Amino acid sequence: MMRLLLGAGCAVLLTTAAARAGDLVIVESGELPVILTAPHGGGQDVPGCMLRSPVGTRFVNRPDQHTDVLTRGIADELKRLTGKPPYLVMARFHRKFIDANRRSDEAYGDPGCAAVYDAYHAAIRRLIDEVRTKHPHAMLFDIHGQAAYPDSILRGTHYGAAVSRLLARAGAPAINGPDSVFGRFAAMGYRIVPLNNTAPTDRVEAKGYTGGHTVALYGSNHQDGIDAMQLEFGRDLRAQTIIATTARDTAHAIAAFYERFLR
Ligand SMILES: [Zn+2]
Repeated sequence: MMRLLLGAGCAVLLTTAAARAGDLVIVESGELPVILTAPHGGGQDVPGCMLRSPVGTRFVNRPDQHTDVLTRGIADELKRLTGKPPYLVMARFHRKFIDANRRSDEAYGDPGCAAVYDAYHAAIRRLIDEVRTKHPHAMLFDIHGQAAYPDSILRGTHYGAAVSRLLARAGAPAINGPDSVFGRFAAMGYRIVPLNNTAPTDRVEAKGYTGGHTVALYGSNHQDGIDAMQLEFGRDLRAQTIIATTARDTAHAIAAFYERFLR
């Protein structure tokens, strides 16, 4: 009887922990072969998870401000433009507890954080697997903010590695041509890094912004991955007065890319 009671108690605890982890990650299935991920826009505390301590070479515990709003705006506008919602995984948890764009050994320092970190990555894995069964081509965009280039949008693909399948089938224009995402950004007047007159495999992506753990883990250089690109939006582009425009323009750029390269 005692064992039964203990068992039931554990089940309740596990269910609660899983439910709590799920509450801190927004996961939405979609219809468009586009996955948007946003690890650094959240502001919620993580119950039972202690704050991170400095670890690794580039420790950051501040959020990428308003990237949650930006990502939601991009998703809404993509649905309006194409009639289909993209897939979405967004952290609601604050980066001072968990940095979901780091390997687990650098992402958090306390075992109490693991369930939420694991929920975030399990969701991405599940959506990638789903997209791959439904669509011949797909693309993941990992949405971030940076302040080093405040008026610019930065591309991170680990010098083309994370988009290797896209490059193999469509060539450089899929990354730097007029119907690429950054081709559209440039045409709309955005400053971009690197420039489109460089090859996708040139080692010219901005130092420190070449793509983090998400792009490295799920990119198409892996058998079970998909083409993946980190987008780093400058601080000025996330200002309250302009963020809706940034979201709308980004959705237009992704929609053009979808029409040309993912259909
Ligand atoms: Zn970030």
